[in-house]
Amino acid sequence: MPLDFIRPDIRAMNAYHVARLPADWLKLDAMEVPYTFPTALQNELATALAHTEINRYPNPADSTLPAALRRAFAIPEQAHIALGNGSDELIQFISLLFARAGAKMLVLEPSFVMYRRNAELFGMECIGVPLKSDFSLDLPAVLEAVKTQQPALIFLAYPNNPTGVAFARAEVEAVIAAAQGLVVVDEAYGAFSGDSFLAQAGTPENLLVLRTLSKIGFAGLRLGYAAGAPAVMQELAKILPPYNMNCLSLTAAEFALNHMDVVNQHIDLLKQERKRLFAALQEINGVTVFPSQANFITVRLPDAEAAYQKLCDNKILVKKLHGSHPLLADCLRLTIGTPAQNDAVLSVLAQSAS
Ligand SMILES: *Cc1c(COP(=O)(O)O)cnc(C)c1O
Repeated sequence: MPLDFIRPDIRAMNAYHVARLPADWLKLDAMEVPYTFPTALQNELATALAHTEINRYPNPADSTLPAALRRAFAIPEQAHIALGNGSDELIQFISLLFARAGAKMLVLEPSFVMYRRNAELFGMECIGVPLKSDFSLDLPAVLEAVKTQQPALIFLAYPNNPTGVAFARAEVEAVIAAAQGLVVVDEAYGAFSGDSFLAQAGTPENLLVLRTLSKIGFAGLRLGYAAGAPAVMQELAKILPPYNMNCLSLTAAEFALNHMDVVNQHIDLLKQERKRLFAALQEINGVTVFPSQANFITVRLPDAEAAYQKLCDNKILVKKLHGSHPLLADCLRLTIGTPAQNDAVLSVLAQSAS
């Protein structure tokens, strides 16, 4: 039986669950942007894709995407850039890079579940430091864990998922200063917050900034990137698969970067909606709304399970956080959609509260 030869710890894992939805449902569970390019731009993109040489291996050395990313997001000269098939792939290979025997990974909890998953996959001990109940960072606890455990790798999502809260910048800086190992500042939601560590990428040698195009409208492209100190990035380059990026994604991503005006309009719309949704949620009886710097809002309700069901009854899928961590008791995570979509969510939640 081949199964008998597969690692028992992997056999005991559950696969990452991706919801499959009928077309008439509202999908607000995965921080996808509800907007796409207007038709004229879609047609331009189609032409660009048609002229992409899919008969050739994508040569990373020929790719103009890293330079385009550098321009679009002001990534400093001193940082080297790596591309990943989604930042998920980069999280995986960064974890592999540091997974020496006995190496530890430090994560905050609750945070992005893939950090711990990769620690488990590569046999690293994962140390979870709980956030405070308002989802802010417990700096003394993190610094204590850094000092006593000497983690090889620390993941900080800034802003954090699934809470939406951005930690105080000075606290993240304190963690970077205290750590001997690599600190990955995961800015998947950086476009929605007012702040970034990209400008520092490459200067403290132990800082690596991780970003993605997924949460700004291009989840389907699977395009993540990392910016960090050359010495570290050179090691990472050794273990990335040689052709990990496909040429259609590279073409489409570069097209997107050439139309950042449209992308930024969408981001602005979502930020306006975040403000409106935040205020409206606060008006609903019994709802606690956590301040978000991302394109989702996490709320605590009197009965998250019932509210989740009520949303499902209305063909709206959000993320039920309840049950995944004690600090997330009775919490739901609402991806910000179009004004009409957000109104639909508000109306169901207001009904179930009254
Ligand atoms: C969504 C998300 C990612 C993964 O993004 P991809 O680039 O789509 O793989 C990484 N980190 C955090 C914190 C996320 O929320």
